[in-house]
Amino acid sequence: MSTAAAPPSLAELRFDNRFVAELPGDPESANFRRQVAGACWSSVAPTAVAAPRLVAVADEVLALLDLPPAAAQAPLFAEVFAGNRLLDGMQPHATCYGGHQFGNWAGQLGDGRAINLGEIVNADGERWILQLKGAGPTPYSRGADGLAVLRSSVREFLCSEAMHHLGVPTTRALSLVLTGETVVRDMFYDGNPRPEPGAVVCRVAPSFTRFGHFEIHAARGDHALLQRLADYTIRTDFPHLGEPGDDPAARRAGYVAWFDEVCQRTARLIAEWMRVGFVHGVMNTDNLSILGLTIDYGPYGWLDDYDPDWTPNTTDAQGRRYRYGQQPQVALWNLLQLANALHPLIGDSAPLERALEDYGRHYESAWRAAMAAKLGLAALDGDDDQALVEALFGVLTATETDMTLFYRTLNELDPGSDATGATLVERFAPAWYRPEHVDDDYRARLARWLDDYRARVRADALAPAGRAARMRRANPLYVMRNYLAQLAIDRAEQGDFGGVRELLDVMRRPYDPQPGREAYAAPRPDWARSRAGCSMLSCSS
Ligand code: AMP
Ligand code: MG
Repeated sequence: MSTAAAPPSLAELRFDNRFVAELPGDPESANFRRQVAGACWSSVAPTAVAAPRLVAVADEVLALLDLPPAAAQAPLFAEVFAGNRLLDGMQPHATCYGGHQFGNWAGQLGDGRAINLGEIVNADGERWILQLKGAGPTPYSRGADGLAVLRSSVREFLCSEAMHHLGVPTTRALSLVLTGETVVRDMFYDGNPRPEPGAVVCRVAPSFTRFGHFEIHAARGDHALLQRLADYTIRTDFPHLGEPGDDPAARRAGYVAWFDEVCQRTARLIAEWMRVGFVHGVMNTDNLSILGLTIDYGPYGWLDDYDPDWTPNTTDAQGRRYRYGQQPQVALWNLLQLANALHPLIGDSAPLERALEDYGRHYESAWRAAMAAKLGLAALDGDDDQALVEALFGVLTATETDMTLFYRTLNELDPGSDATGATLVERFAPAWYRPEHVDDDYRARLARWLDDYRARVRADALAPAGRAARMRRANPLYVMRNYLAQLAIDRAEQGDFGGVRELLDVMRRPYDPQPGREAYAAPRPDWARSRAGCSMLSCSS
């Protein structure tokens, strides 16, 4: 007779903390701000808080840890994921990294408010690192407090999971916990500080290694540590590339193959952001993951009206470095900084330059594949298709047009019908933010484009039966619109977490119509056009 295994509880999680076991740590164990040289991490315990209270949990992420939903309801859960209790096997630490911020080398940054608790191995042999964000200061906190407020934590929690369900590579979010304490923030750095509820998110990823982790050792000329971290990263995050080995030429080839894969993953990541209309907002090199995951959800935003020049980040309002349309170029710039950091390991620029050139090709092909899927075509080929796509972007920017709704409307048109573009134009009216600006010229332009597009679709190799479904999978109906997150935040700040939980649930199936939840697919209402948190965000969090 077999007995079912008792559901694992939190206390049974098994840790195998390779980062601290295999890489050198900081000998100093006191928690004060400092430069940390010659080490990849510093021991630091989370700061205990007054009254942890679980706001939301992602059951799918619990499942990655082999935990059932009930595990989150035990009081121990909120205690652990607020940072008040450590489980056996946890080795809390903050890691050392640097970064280029807004184009300038910023020196040591590091986990200023992130504390890695440890690395779990689940029943499938997958490894997941648990990381608290907002659990108090670390040696890397510089002038800041190591804390996070509810509004930014809701945004990080919800968007991490929304991105995952959209199919975009991302770090995950296990839990969102209120600390029961307040944190003072001046949201727009304009002399209006106010106390806000404090919160902690537990992020989960195979690794949190960033480009900046390599840059810091290179900048300090510590090539031995740079190599140790590179070897560790290849072994743990890129095991399919094989061990670096001892032969110098083979090692160099291994580093090049690795960098090449980082370029490819980054290309795919950015193409995915472009597909769904996501703007990261702070693409500094410390915010780019070596695994090509979306990481560090700060002043990110989603395109409501399709505007390649839009940036959600008020800190970036002047130069718009991190605007939607520039993300592919900025990623390349960041990869170039990584290439510079890795150069000492390879000693030759040519293979790094080739990989950077390949980034452009990988990005181009990932982006074309995404656009083909969005348009329901087997593939984009030739100048005519290029012209069709460019004409589409011209149409989308000619009047303020909701990107998400536009593509979903396109998805709903039956290409087999003999309707002309002119008769279909009004179908797009719900996507127009300024209907009073939509004139006959615009209508004619959209009609012409629809006629060209429908002719192209009819000539396409794709079987009509599969087309609508393929398009649907490329064009989400629900995205984490900024104003939706803000509405959930407004309620959460009043102690009502229903909005956060409902939004989390809606975003579980972003491509499927969900009857009764039409409001979550609605374009941004006019009141949200210029409200803080809905169209403008700062780094204050
Ligand atoms: P970010 O712009 O959020 O990517 O952060 C850049 C750097 O500032 C990283 O080293 C963060 O860990 C650090 N940082 C951001 N906010 C805080 C905070 N409230 N306390 C301590 N460090 C912070
Ligand atoms: Mg960051």
